[in-house]
Amino acid sequence: MTRTTVPSYCRICEAACGILADVEDGRVTAIHGDPEHPSSRGLMCPKGSLMVKVTNDPERVTTPLRGDRKGGFVPVSWDEALTDIAERVKSLIADHGPNSVAYYSGNPAGFSMAGHMWAKKFIDGLGSKGSYSAAPQDTSSRWAASHFLYGNTHEVPLPDLDYTDFLLCFGANPLVSHGSLMSSGRTRSQLANIVDRGGRIVVVDPARTQTAQTYEHVSVVPSSDPLLMAAMLHVIFAENLVSPRASRSAIGLDTLAAAVAPVTPESVQDRTGVDAETVRKLARDFATAESACAYGRLGLCRGEFPTLANYLLDALNVVTGNLDRRGGVVFGNGLVDFPAINAKVGRSSYAASFTRVGSLPEVGGRKPWVLADEILTPGEGQVRGVFLVSGNPISSTPGAARLEEAFDQLDLLVSVDMYVTESNERADYILPSPTFLERADVLLNFGGGMTRPWVQWTEPVVPRIGDTREETEIFGELMHRMGVPPGPSPWELIDNMIRSGDRGAAEGWTLERIKAYPHGVELGGDVETGVIAQRISTYTKGLRDTVDLGAQPVLDQLDEFLAKDPPAPDSLLLISRRHLRSINSWMHNVRKVRVGGGPTLHIHPKDARARGIETGETVTLATSVGSGDVIATVTDEVRPGTVSYPHGWGHSGGWSTAIEHGGININKLIPNDIEKKDPLSGMSFLDGVHVTVTARQTAAQQ
Ligand code: SF4
Repeated sequence: MTRTTVPSYCRICEAACGILADVEDGRVTAIHGDPEHPSSRGLMCPKGSLMVKVTNDPERVTTPLRGDRKGGFVPVSWDEALTDIAERVKSLIADHGPNSVAYYSGNPAGFSMAGHMWAKKFIDGLGSKGSYSAAPQDTSSRWAASHFLYGNTHEVPLPDLDYTDFLLCFGANPLVSHGSLMSSGRTRSQLANIVDRGGRIVVVDPARTQTAQTYEHVSVVPSSDPLLMAAMLHVIFAENLVSPRASRSAIGLDTLAAAVAPVTPESVQDRTGVDAETVRKLARDFATAESACAYGRLGLCRGEFPTLANYLLDALNVVTGNLDRRGGVVFGNGLVDFPAINAKVGRSSYAASFTRVGSLPEVGGRKPWVLADEILTPGEGQVRGVFLVSGNPISSTPGAARLEEAFDQLDLLVSVDMYVTESNERADYILPSPTFLERADVLLNFGGGMTRPWVQWTEPVVPRIGDTREETEIFGELMHRMGVPPGPSPWELIDNMIRSGDRGAAEGWTLERIKAYPHGVELGGDVETGVIAQRISTYTKGLRDTVDLGAQPVLDQLDEFLAKDPPAPDSLLLISRRHLRSINSWMHNVRKVRVGGGPTLHIHPKDARARGIETGETVTLATSVGSGDVIATVTDEVRPGTVSYPHGWGHSGGWSTAIEHGGININKLIPNDIEKKDPLSGMSFLDGVHVTVTARQTAAQQ
């Protein structure tokens, strides 16, 4: 028996922890944290270790499959599959134009540097504008806000956790998520250190998440964060707490001040559920802290006015003088400057095109989530063929029932995946891909999210199981068969990006040099501050070098929000939640991702009593588009008027353990109405959806 331990890094979440994989006779047997890793320093979470089970899972698809579109599959050769797919794509394009073919990349696709590039190159090479991703479900509103603020959708500020005195967290649970739109392998210890050095962490969230339980919690009505932030800004302006730095770094301060002038803490306390005195104190404490940073994530991005929410979040940092400074929010400087590259090639664009159905803006090169409508609506540009790349949108996107109907009408559905899932069980082909332990990679794509940037190369930890192929091989072959010029290889392009970036050129970095550091290497300490003026000037081609806090299309949404009727006192608003062991759905064929008895609906004791519901009971959860039976957990971890249910459960397909976990596909109950999407970002409205919850007996009587 041969035994080795191979350094690599985890590609499940943005923390990208360094790992050591134990390998026996070519099979991975255990995964530990890598103490030599420059960021995670030996830390990791349970999900990383579970990749042993995923990689060795006998239910993985390991040979190409041809489907009958009803869930039946037979093995085929790669040659047969790729030849048929290429011919059918050619014929779709000849008959209906390039936009008749679309692709959807799921979350794991973003963790394969070369694979992601090659899938995108394929769809771009066809001339199709149909690039869909998970972004409209988690990030597009952040990108839209960055467009208005900084002139580049992909310029996102980072909380400077190692130095801040005050972290104000909106709709984020970093003790569980380990941070998102930021990359750090030791988020937990960074948070603990803030408090150890006398600082504070305040979590604004409708649920008492693990982070909220550990630190200070301000409980807020789902989706009302923009009003809370506007009220904080009102206090900061009214009490002359605006930093002198603000007028040097921003334009539009007067416009912003006028917009928040009517939003007194008293005027919105019923809407936000946060009493006026708490808001005033929070605003004063944040504004007068030695250094402070406001950070927001999914709970902020998926509410009803999410671009406004992200915009006001950054406004809090700017007006208190905490933008682009040590201990405030800072801007990343990875080895490859993706915001700058994306700006050059038009991928950091905003509203460069609009969806055929719904006229929603494309944000950062990605379309809003209207794929089902684009498939089901006849006319020029109707989508007839879809490639799913490491994506299970029937599990992970709203309006899932309608998407099932749409997929069943496609002329061609191809999936690159590791399992037969609820999305690809209706596919023409499933093309099996390796796990991240079975392929080489380089960590560059999250460099802009690191406050102390590092890079890492990894060889495959183990040989591939079965007859799988990487996305680079699959899409390279398809391009070859379709006559799309291949150009340089992905690794040549990546090497070129490294060499030609400012940092790579100045410091002499190449792909070969990165390979000399199998445990990863830090690139020179903390990112610099005082950089954003120059970047804004570059992005706006010299039009401005200051943050724009007076963007009228965004601030108009504040008036719109204020004019809306508040939720009725007895209404229930649905939010999502995360657990440490589970991320999205793709690891769900592992038994240990399930927590306790499986996914349950969290409901507050007051709401449960009013409906005669007890823990463990089956209840009916209903929305405007459907209903499902779920198990209730009565808990004060959610505030009254709020219920939470995690997404990514209720599976079907060929992964038996995932199916055994039970639960429901919550996305079948969440509407995907175009008119409910944020018109500025096309973001889906996912957190704060109105629901009813009924004891099953009562539902049956009705
Ligand atoms: S926090 Fe967990 S899932 Fe994320 S990279 Fe680290 S080990 Fe992987």
